[in-house]
Amino acid sequence: MLLKAVNEEGWGSGSPVTYSRSLTFVLTHDCPWHCSYCGFRTDAEGLLSEANLDKLLAEAAGQGAKEALLISGERPDSLPHIRRELERRGFSDFWDFANQVADRCAGAGLFPHGNFGRMAEEELIRLRPHFVSMGMMLESAEDHFRLAPEKKAAGRIAGIEAAGRAGVAFTSGILVGWVRLGGKLGGSDPGPRCNVHLALDHLGLGDHGLWSGRQRPPGLVAVGPSGLS
Ligand code: SF4
Repeated sequence: MLLKAVNEEGWGSGSPVTYSRSLTFVLTHDCPWHCSYCGFRTDAEGLLSEANLDKLLAEAAGQGAKEALLISGERPDSLPHIRRELERRGFSDFWDFANQVADRCAGAGLFPHGNFGRMAEEELIRLRPHFVSMGMMLESAEDHFRLAPEKKAAGRIAGIEAAGRAGVAFTSGILVGWVRLGGKLGGSDPGPRCNVHLALDHLGLGDHGLWSGRQRPPGLVAVGPSGLS
């Protein structure tokens, strides 16, 4: 209904606003870090099981989903229990697991989009044949304390540049509501948000998504012309 109103009233640039049905496949919530705002991470959940993957694929088919959003904690195979599970299930590493889940999604008629945090260029090249697109939230162009080391702005900008060199269709976005100090949500200072928009525009990602800082729930996701954000 909102999209209908936006399109009929010609909001913004006049470009039509579209959406596609997307289902989220969490490969693991486990993450070695403890970002202050995070409501996603767990310590020892383990990897998405075959049975739950089958359930998600059936759910996607039942709901008419077109996209599969594959996500995880940051560098989960830095955790010993994840490495043990990967070995036990016959995967060479976490990227091998992600690629095989993406292939299952593609085989079920879904477009796989991956978002696994900051990745090196060679890792992006390895995942490129298996994913229609990938992404990573820039979140903020400023560094905040109590965030994972992987979330330093310079490192994430370098990660987005690596995706460009790797030729990966890439999306990014910001976390709405950061305040300048402390990395808390709910601030009203527009400065940091302007800075992160400018940084994304500089990287050629003028069309980017907005997340609230809490994990986006599975289900319908509004997208702009460049795809899932
Ligand atoms: S790196 Fe990501 S998953 Fe891990 S604690 Fe930070 S926000 Fe949460």
